[in-house]
Amino acid sequence: MDYTDLVSGLKNSFKKGTTKPLAWRIGQLKAMDRMLAENEDRIIDALKSDLNKPAQDTIMAEIEFIRNDIISLLRNIKKWSASQPVTKSLVTLLDKPYIHPEPFGVVLVIGAWNFPLQLSLAPLAPAIAAGNCGVIKPSEISPATAELLGELVPKYMDNECIKVVEGGVPETTELLKQPFDYIFYTGSTVVGKIIASAASKNLTPCTLELGGKSPAVIDDSCRNLETAAKRLLWGKTMNAGQICVAPDYVLCTKETEAKLIPVIKKLLNDWFTGNVEESACYCRIVTTRHAERLNGMLQSTAGNIVIGGKIDVDNKFLEPTVITGVTLQDSTMQEEIFGPILPIINIKDIDEAIDLINSRDKPLAMYVFSENQKSIRKLRDNTSSGGFTVNETILQLSVEELPFGGVGSSGMGAYHGKHGFDTFTHYKPVLEKNLGWLGEKLAEFRYPPYNPRNINFIKALIKNREMPSFAFLNYLLSLAVGTGLGILYTKYATV
Ligand code: NAD
Repeated sequence: MDYTDLVSGLKNSFKKGTTKPLAWRIGQLKAMDRMLAENEDRIIDALKSDLNKPAQDTIMAEIEFIRNDIISLLRNIKKWSASQPVTKSLVTLLDKPYIHPEPFGVVLVIGAWNFPLQLSLAPLAPAIAAGNCGVIKPSEISPATAELLGELVPKYMDNECIKVVEGGVPETTELLKQPFDYIFYTGSTVVGKIIASAASKNLTPCTLELGGKSPAVIDDSCRNLETAAKRLLWGKTMNAGQICVAPDYVLCTKETEAKLIPVIKKLLNDWFTGNVEESACYCRIVTTRHAERLNGMLQSTAGNIVIGGKIDVDNKFLEPTVITGVTLQDSTMQEEIFGPILPIINIKDIDEAIDLINSRDKPLAMYVFSENQKSIRKLRDNTSSGGFTVNETILQLSVEELPFGGVGSSGMGAYHGKHGFDTFTHYKPVLEKNLGWLGEKLAEFRYPPYNPRNINFIKALIKNREMPSFAFLNYLLSLAVGTGLGILYTKYATV
């Protein structure tokens, strides 16, 4: 396969300027919204087929998640796409400095399988809002959703500017040879390095939305263990734990662990009515290969499986499983779990938790359950992670103003809301001047031959000082100061 024609076609559409007018961007966002609204049932079916995803989760975390993003983009697109004036200095008082947002060009969005609709369309929407052409490459591991996207996107959206490429590693490898203007990748850290290396060959900027082991610290001060356990478990059992920001492992004291285990046991029993395998509220592991990986982890753990542990690889089922007595050497601590296994490591205090977290790669998310502000601040200020969430899991993603992304090996760059628009925008600095007499006279000192008599004048002129931010005041000041400096300069500083 060769994607040269596909990408050069998109580049031509971009060059023609098709995607720049606000009308086109708004039209495409509305078309995407219509596509989601009119095909809700088919999307639910596709995700059921790929992951046994319950309709409620598909509506909440895939369809409505993207539709809400679109609402926000439509609400703000005019404001975000407009040029933004910046504060002037004395040197630029007579000029017009501003920031002009411009699209990069043709962007490639590579999605992952766990939220296969969201992870392809949620980056595409801000890319379109920012005025780019785009190619999405949904994950081949969730084939029903990939196929549906391949059918629906060309039907609803502008084919000259937006394409879907279906396929796996060979197709992505070929696509990556093309000179994209931006690459947005979601997936594992290992593949993230391959993407970054391919992008560097064309000096293409990229965002890497990766994963990692996100810890959940449960402090002894956390008295409302039932609510804490509900929120922790929701993050670990939704999508059968196949969420990049799922709490990967728990850090708590032996005393807190002893109180937590019976609470978790009861909750799981209540939520899945005593039979997880038959529950319509529980996902499957995406493929038997992925279930096999989790089985390996489970079979070789040196910890104690105190809850769950039942696995049926052929049917891609793994019961929510809690393991105690876990050490850093355990099989569950060697890589991101990305499944419904929850190891608990005992620590003696917050300081030990901080040391342990800091001895590992920077996680994508970090969770703290605590009723002690001192402990919360200590953890926040002495660790580094993509995000930091207190007494909750996953919901940080629903706060549009919060950038979502990793740090270090959990990724680079961020999106959601305005941050998504920013990701797909080059903020071009523009300085507009005129060729009039006054401006030229004021700035003449910069030309050789230099004159030592000008030094004090230059120091005063270029000094970094606070300027009034009102446009009218700026205008008055520019007239007054410009004229004053012009007179002074002509009188004392002529070469
Ligand atoms: P995956 O297998 O679906 O791969 C992701 C994408 O990379 C797919 O489109 C796939 O075709 C492509 N790909 C895979 N191997 C490749 C290669 N060698 N060369 C080029 N392209 C390749 O998903 P995955 O990697 O199994 O996803 C799970 C990981 O993704 C976890 O680590 C998880 O934490 C992370 N993740 C992160 C986010 C986030 O937003 N930060 C979201 C979801 C998943």
